[in-house]
Amino acid sequence: MDRKCKICEKPIKGRADKIFCSVHCKNEYHKKIRYASKIAAIEINGYLKRNYAILLETLGKNKTQLKIYRNLLEKKDFRFKYHTHFHINSKNKTFYYVYDLAWMEFSDDEILVVRKI
Ligand SMILES: [Zn+2]
Repeated sequence: MDRKCKICEKPIKGRADKIFCSVHCKNEYHKKIRYASKIAAIEINGYLKRNYAILLETLGKNKTQLKIYRNLLEKKDFRFKYHTHFHINSKNKTFYYVYDLAWMEFSDDEILVVRKI
């Protein structure tokens, strides 16, 4: 069987499970993976940070929950698509989290923002 290095495409000699021709190519491969992961994360981490800042600003320092019109969040460029995890409560309401802050669709045009303690 003709095997080629994943990076430089030179033929591979040796063990059947080898996928790189050398340590150099193996390191190159991992460097490429790390770089791609970093690039992929930058954009989404930016949206998450922005969403978090908007929720924090909306809620203020001392409140644990607040209702706000959806369009006010949209005006601030809140991206509903981006969250870190979600939780469905016993009333079948979905809480979307950005770290320790969350929002829930209270009605068609209202969003409930909560701080989970
Ligand atoms: Zn190689």
